[in-house]
Order: sequence, then structure tokens, then C-alpha cells
Amino acid sequence: MTAIDTLLGALGSGEARIVDLTAPLSPTTPVLQLPAPFANTIPLSLEKVSDFDEDGPFWSWNNIHTGEHTGTHVDAPSHWATGRNGNSVDTIPPSRLIGPAVVLDYTTEVAGNPDFLLEPEHLEAFVAANGPLPDGAWLVLRTGWSRYNRDAVAFLNTDENGPHTPGVSVAGAKWLAGSPITGFAVETVGIDAGQAGGFEPPFPAHHQLLGADKYGLTQLQNVDQLPVTGALIIAAPLPIVGGTGSPARAFAIVPDGDGPS
Ligand code: MN
Repeated sequence: MTAIDTLLGALGSGEARIVDLTAPLSPTTPVLQLPAPFANTIPLSLEKVSDFDEDGPFWSWNNIHTGEHTGTHVDAPSHWATGRNGNSVDTIPPSRLIGPAVVLDYTTEVAGNPDFLLEPEHLEAFVAANGPLPDGAWLVLRTGWSRYNRDAVAFLNTDENGPHTPGVSVAGAKWLAGSPITGFAVETVGIDAGQAGGFEPPFPAHHQLLGADKYGLTQLQNVDQLPVTGALIIAAPLPIVGGTGSPARAFAIVPDGDGPS
């Protein structure tokens, strides 16, 4: 038996299962909206090339138009000033896109405070309870925010003071950059908190993580199906040459504690 045989056997028997962590990608998928004077990316649109018509009687296909950072996507180091000479999305080694999941659940806190921030104390308490973060882990901030991901107004949650969505503090981002994780995974539109444009430095998760050759993975859903530890996350962005990020499919392989079904 190889390790692959063991995995396929577990998937076949129900001892493990695949969870799709990817939000549907459509023209209504929420996209980050920066305030003026900053420029924004475009949402997804499909441009028909043919649809079983005179332009292609037996086939249907489209051109796609989208920003690199639309929907569930990976942030590459080259996205940020601190990582601009680092990996673009095509040069991230695939081995670093696949790693163990560690899930920190702050759904209850976020329900009472959409501006919740992950602090070093939270991370240190997690390590005390669960052991050191494994090398190459995807650290998942579970917030319940994906419940809004089909409603852009609720998902972006913007008022006169800007967006209000959970994230990580300046000190928390610095802590993560010094940890052995491969990246930081969130349910929200980006890896920084809604209010993080006003932090010092601005957008500390981007600043710290991308500057440390770590990656972002955004707009996940179904993270409530992940155990605290023990799942494997596979993030698969397109290898856009020179790209600063890419829409991605993200899966988890989750052990089923109930065993064979
Ligand atoms: Mn991004």
C-alpha cells in the first residue's frame, strides 16, 4: 500500500472526505472596494464567444474578464510592496500551496463584533492548547463571515467609516509572519480586516505575511466543516505568469471521525 492507496481507500470508505472551500465565482461575487482615489479591479464577467450558434454551431465558450483578486483567491508575495521582489503567483512552489489546516474559531466573537481582530494572545492560547503550528500550515481564521458571501452589501459591511469585517491586528500579523505557516486563510474578501487601511502599517496582514513569503487565501466557505487540526488544504491558483494573485479552487481533505460509512 502506498500513501496514495491509503488516501484513496479512506476517501472510498468514507474515512476521509473532500470539502470544497471555494465560493461560487460569478458576476455577483463580492469584490474588494477601495475608496477614492485608489483604483479597483473588475468583478468577473463572461463574454460569449459562441453558444451553439453561427459563431460555433456545436460548441459554447466564453472569454473571461476579471481581476486577479476576485472571489476565493490566492495572494502572492509580489502583490505587496514588502514582497514585490518575491514570488509571483506562478512561481509559488506547489508544495507550499498544500498543507495542514489549523482552524481558529472566533465565530461567536465576530457575531458580536465585526471588527474582531486576531491577537498574539489568541495565537499563543491556541498553541498552548493544540501544540506548535505545523510547518507549512494554512492557518484558517474561522469567523462565520462566509454566510454573507452571496450578498455583497452584507459581505463588505461598509458604513461612513469604511468596511467592518474581521481580521488580524498589527501585532497578530507580525506574530504570524514569524511562525512556520505557509499562509493565512480567511472567509472575508481579503486577508486584512475591514478597518486595516487605517492601521500602522496599513493592511498589516498583507504587509507582514507577503513580505515574509507567506500567502493569503481568501473568501473561503464551509470552514465550519474543518476540524481544529487534522485536515489538509489544497489551494490551486492559476499560474498567471507575473500575476500578483489568482482566483483559486481550494479543497480540504477531512478525516471523518465516524469512520467507514
Ligand atoms: Mn487579494
